[in-house]
Amino acid sequence: VSSVDLVLVGTGDAFGNGGRFQTCFVLRHDDDAVMIDCGASSLTALKAAGIGPNDIETVVLTNLHGDHFGGLPFLVLDGQFRRREHRPMIAGPPGTADRLHRAMDVLFPNSRSASRRFETRVVELGFDDPTSVGPAAVRAIEVEQPDTPARALRVEMAGTVLVYTGDTAWTDRLIDLAAGADLLVAESYFFGRDVPFHLSYPTLASQRGQLDCKRILLTHTSPDMLAHQHEAQFEWAHDNMVVTL
Ligand SMILES: [Zn+2]
Repeated sequence: VSSVDLVLVGTGDAFGNGGRFQTCFVLRHDDDAVMIDCGASSLTALKAAGIGPNDIETVVLTNLHGDHFGGLPFLVLDGQFRRREHRPMIAGPPGTADRLHRAMDVLFPNSRSASRRFETRVVELGFDDPTSVGPAAVRAIEVEQPDTPARALRVEMAGTVLVYTGDTAWTDRLIDLAAGADLLVAESYFFGRDVPFHLSYPTLASQRGQLDCKRILLTHTSPDMLAHQHEAQFEWAHDNMVVTL
């Protein structure tokens, strides 16, 4: 039986702290590759990790901030120049198609109407019911991040379960979402204090007993968090880390 691997392509915050790339994970099984989030730096990060962008057929987004979706115009145009043929499917919160169109118009005028060998499909993720997205089944829940429609995800592929919090303040809905997961990737933005609408280390530490999953990895780190990594009682994600689920 072939394994399901998660490549943590980017584990940083929005601002490149620690030299880390913005959020991007790739879940792989055989020839299937599902990308989770695609920050503005993610095309570069993908190539640095040795993953071919044209091998990504499915992208799932947790929110529409630049550090989670801003790499999509680059991914689409790179596919155009590399003669990509299969069409990518992008699944995200409500408004994803419009935001992608506007981002392409701003970053590369006229790129939206350029002719390509593929079309880009965009679907909106509903709530709660698992949705088939490429080779994965994705359950999305609404989380606490009022600036942008934001989701946490439970992604099932080939019998394994990955849960990712996205960016959010703590919500008890994460307990149910993470139940029985092989891996929970959790935002842990700050070590010493809570900031609005993000998860911080003290919150995760206090909720650890309620999170019934096999393994937890922390991500989306500020300079404050990076400075205290050795004090944290959790495993840390880092760029290019590969985890077998
Ligand atoms: Zn973020």
